[in-house]
Amino acid sequence: SIAQIEGITVFRRGLSTRADEFNSLISEVKSKKHLSEKDSVKPLSGTSFVAKDNIAFPQGYTTCASKALSNYRSPFKATVIQSLEDAGSDLIGKANLDEFGMGSSNVESYFGAVINPAFANEKRIAGGSSGGSAAAVRSEASTFALGTDTGGSVRLPAAYTGVIGFKPTYGRVSRWGVIPYAQTLDTVGILARDIGVVKQVFNAIDQHDEKDVTSIPEEIRSDWSGLPKLADMKNTTVGVPEEFLVEELSGYSRQVWYDTLNSLRKLGCTIKQVNIPQIEKSLSAYYTIVSAEAASNLSRYDGVRYGFNSTDKPGTVHDIISRNRSSSFGQEVQRRIILGNYTLSSESGDHYLKATEVRKMLVKELNQVFSTQHMLFSDDKPSSSGCDVLISPTYTSIPCTLDEYHNMNEENFLNNYINDILTVPASLAGVPAISVPYQKQNTPEAKIPEAIQIIAQHGNDEFLLDFTKELM
Ligand code: GLN
Repeated sequence: SIAQIEGITVFRRGLSTRADEFNSLISEVKSKKHLSEKDSVKPLSGTSFVAKDNIAFPQGYTTCASKALSNYRSPFKATVIQSLEDAGSDLIGKANLDEFGMGSSNVESYFGAVINPAFANEKRIAGGSSGGSAAAVRSEASTFALGTDTGGSVRLPAAYTGVIGFKPTYGRVSRWGVIPYAQTLDTVGILARDIGVVKQVFNAIDQHDEKDVTSIPEEIRSDWSGLPKLADMKNTTVGVPEEFLVEELSGYSRQVWYDTLNSLRKLGCTIKQVNIPQIEKSLSAYYTIVSAEAASNLSRYDGVRYGFNSTDKPGTVHDIISRNRSSSFGQEVQRRIILGNYTLSSESGDHYLKATEVRKMLVKELNQVFSTQHMLFSDDKPSSSGCDVLISPTYTSIPCTLDEYHNMNEENFLNNYINDILTVPASLAGVPAISVPYQKQNTPEAKIPEAIQIIAQHGNDEFLLDFTKELM
């Protein structure tokens, strides 16, 4: 059914049992589960989850929040969903997102904007692109959620809604059955209210998958057992990259950052200012890479074999395909396809290659800053005085209202890209990063979710999660 909710068109499928006032879900999944005795001893028994609707599941639809796939039924079940079901968890819904994962606000969805549950009586954005996953977790519709993080899409909505959002090392979690946006960056991530749940879920999905060619093989995974473990916060070195102190960073976010550093100092951590100059080039490199990869990935949606088609009108094959594509992709997706095709066309120069260079240099600089090496690019010597983790705020400014979003977008669409400035470096380097709610003032007045981002070296996900647990 299609409902009109205060100017937002909401399409609902099977959302009969729970009124979803935040528009967090695109569809509900009917539970097939009958708790058997055997099941109750599985690690995730008794938990429920929602999966971002770009993760394939054969029951119902897998839409990517796009008109192009609004009637698409996937024949596949993504490996991550299978692993979670095997661990005893129950998929209860498919979460809203920015179309194909492109956005930072979860407004650009064919199924309408997600409303942030952290703000009462105000329509503020939940952040994107995994905004539905974040809103479902914040409103306690499920124990945890799966999202995807290409440039911050798990961390940013988690920060805006006041939950935890974890993006593991690229390649640790299978992407088989995850519909690609930008394949050199796409990473499945976890959103939850509790760090213990994040750890348990990660344990269930942190596996090599031979069906995913980018899945990290066992040989490399076994090397990770030699990585340092968190023994004591007192022996931990926390790096503060100066380049994150960007002009766009609001006073509010600066304060959260300083407060966190003070708390860490009290816990006995060594705080160290570091320089990672490539961070300044990361946002441009990121948008060059993602639009090129998106243009290439999305060329498959021609509406001929599946997906939206408008064959009722006559025309040549070319007319039909271009009509299908221009009437079923939203404005942001079309913009990325155009930008990407420009980037990849020979007349425009070698933008993609230049962006790849920034990425390599960034990894090199991280190798100089961290105490361990990037497992995939490790020609440098690790520094014993290096950092265990890096710390920054997750967002530059607090979530805006839906009206502010539309005004800002009208003024200049680039305004929306700036939000990603703090999250894209970890994505480009493929290193693990987490956003943690850090409510210093635990009073009812402190209503705006405060969030801090912690980044660790490649493969050091366990250290990152243990450190987060100590900080929270
Ligand atoms: N906002 C970023 C983008 O639009 C990140 C999206 C994501 O991580 N999926 O590309």
